[in-house]
Amino acid sequence: MSDKKYAWVRDALSHVPLTTKARALKHFLMGKNEYLPAKKTRADMDEVIKCALCPNMCKFDCPVLAAAATDAVSPSGKARLAYFLETEALATDDAALLMYACCSCDACREWCPFDFSVADILQGVRADLVDRHREPEAARETRQRLEEQHSLHQRQVEPAGPPTGDLLYFMGCEVSARHPEIARDTRTVLEAAGVTPAMLPQEWCCGAPLLSMGYVDDFLDVARHQARAVESSRCSTVVCSCPTCTYMLRVMYPRHGVSLPAQVLHSSEYLARLVQEERLPAGAVDGPCVYHDPCTLARKLGVMDPPRQVLHRMGMDVRESPFKREHTQCCGRGGSLPSFFPKVADAITEARLQELHRTALCIVTACPTCKSAFSGQGAEAYDLVQVVRRALEEA
Ligand code: SF4
Ligand code: SF4
Repeated sequence: MSDKKYAWVRDALSHVPLTTKARALKHFLMGKNEYLPAKKTRADMDEVIKCALCPNMCKFDCPVLAAAATDAVSPSGKARLAYFLETEALATDDAALLMYACCSCDACREWCPFDFSVADILQGVRADLVDRHREPEAARETRQRLEEQHSLHQRQVEPAGPPTGDLLYFMGCEVSARHPEIARDTRTVLEAAGVTPAMLPQEWCCGAPLLSMGYVDDFLDVARHQARAVESSRCSTVVCSCPTCTYMLRVMYPRHGVSLPAQVLHSSEYLARLVQEERLPAGAVDGPCVYHDPCTLARKLGVMDPPRQVLHRMGMDVRESPFKREHTQCCGRGGSLPSFFPKVADAITEARLQELHRTALCIVTACPTCKSAFSGQGAEAYDLVQVVRRALEEA
């Protein structure tokens, strides 16, 4: 107890008998353990407890709380429930389900004095639920689907490209199932810049839903499979359409001990590189449009300038929403939220759309899932690569 911050404890103890001093010291050193679960957890209990005790300082920016309007799903509210689930003082299915009421947007991290991401905290809690076979049915169904077809949805686009090369295009589940136009336009744009993209003969889901839902061992199997697949493609660069695939391949695989033998870029980063090297002509596409920063791209990967640089080069009149860059708002589709709370996810999409439409009716983004969310509610929404392809056509 030499630290200055404990000086008041020293003063208080200086007047009491030795036995009291000894008892106080024992409680000081051991007391915290009394509040920890008896068994070892995958969740970081130090973070769970700190977040549970916090006065919910980031809650004003949590889209799930805004849409669901119940404090149980606020950032700290979820941490409090997590604490009781982890200590097994609470064991209801309803409470377990609430651990999935998060769109993994990291808005909480922007405001948190501890730099906590509740999404990351919940990942560990969900892994503990999985270990106890207490995860919701929707999580089991997703896991089974991924085990059977290695894709979140039924594929519409099959890989079309040589299996080896310099650059590997990784389209991701959302593009292969719902946005063949993004895969097509990516190929067209890359070829216009003199690059023939290779594609994996059978592309697997990047594993993000498995990690997010708590299936850590399955996620590790997927990461190892991808590392082997990238190695056999002999490509030195991997370009992903989806920010979440980029985040998994670039950040989360290495964090779990699996490194890819290639540099991983989001398509906006690669397109910005092509623009810088003057391998894409300047364009003059119609506008105006508002750019929506995808949460994972802006907050988790810090990629905010490259998509804007590309849009400006394409001559687009890009307008900015007041909630932009790291202060963006979620489209509602992150963290597998629609699998567990579809109405909440729709309400988040609607709120973001209303906000974006105050700036412009046409939306450009750099994430196929954001595009699905907005176009699913009837909005005009494009992926960045579609704008580039249009600019090439008009050049
Ligand atoms: S994430 Fe940080 S600011 Fe938000 S409730 Fe938890 S501890 Fe508080
Ligand atoms: S990650 Fe987003 S949805 Fe999840 S608790 Fe934080 S602010 Fe709320």
